[in-house]
Amino acid sequence: MRFTSHTSLTAYLNEHIHPEFSLGFVPTMGALHQGHLSLMRTALEHCSHLVVSIFVNPTQFDNKQDLEKYPRDLDADVQLLQQHFNDQSLIIYHPNVEDVYGQRPEAKKYDFDGLDLVMEGANRPGHFDGVGTILEFFFNVIRPDKAFFGEKDFQQLQIIRKLVDQLPQNIEIVGCPIERETHGLAMSSRNERLTVAARKEAGFIYKSLRIAADHFRANNITSTLEMVKELYNEQPNLDLEYAVIADESTLQPASSTSPNASYRLFVVAHLEGVRLIDNIPLSKQQSSN
Ligand code: AMP
Repeated sequence: MRFTSHTSLTAYLNEHIHPEFSLGFVPTMGALHQGHLSLMRTALEHCSHLVVSIFVNPTQFDNKQDLEKYPRDLDADVQLLQQHFNDQSLIIYHPNVEDVYGQRPEAKKYDFDGLDLVMEGANRPGHFDGVGTILEFFFNVIRPDKAFFGEKDFQQLQIIRKLVDQLPQNIEIVGCPIERETHGLAMSSRNERLTVAARKEAGFIYKSLRIAADHFRANNITSTLEMVKELYNEQPNLDLEYAVIADESTLQPASSTSPNASYRLFVVAHLEGVRLIDNIPLSKQQSSN
């Protein structure tokens, strides 16, 4: 089933999603790839029915050009979904801006306990208020039991957990692992803007994360971050915007480790004018492989 209006979607869900069913939700901005599909497969392992939204949300873009350049191909997306999933369990919602926002797209303001002020939030003011606004709208219309998000956007995942704590609905937020291209680049709709050679070259980002995670086992945070910067200094085409090691629950950048906290390395790099984002969990334990 496909819907463009939230009122007809709500009416359908009220009529067809009986209390014995479970409803999953995967929000996307389209230009679907295997990373999105993996979230949907996981959702359908947990839930009998799934709503997938396809909507490029204007209020989470601080840069108008970035919004305009964002890849859009609704027909290809719908075809891909219909190829991979059973029509009985899949509900696609692709509204236009007016259906969501009325005449004036505007973000609400949220208190995310500082989770939104670092990394992606520090460099993109208002971004997470836009993410919160669209998800609050979707959660309210769809009322899912569970919603699925990629760890590729780990900061977003933690902020959504915080958002859901503030909402009246009881929605379980499920984090899903990062899907990668053959050479290691985290899959992303933005990768479409890279040449084939650049996609391969960008595999270096994941390589740098794994080298850093190995280094971190026997070294401190300062030394690990210095090593990451040196790795990028040797890459003429890859421009490192930031490398941060942060506490996974507070997302605050850390300069030393505490035994009770978990840490993650977050990296943003630019290649051919495309902004690429990735992260990896860190541990002092030796890996088993
Ligand atoms: P987007 O369409 O980029 O807004 O992403 C929609 C959802 O897909 C978000 O929860 C993303 O974190 C997730 N996602 C995007 N790329 C990947 C990936 N490579 N692996 C896993 N999840 C992803």
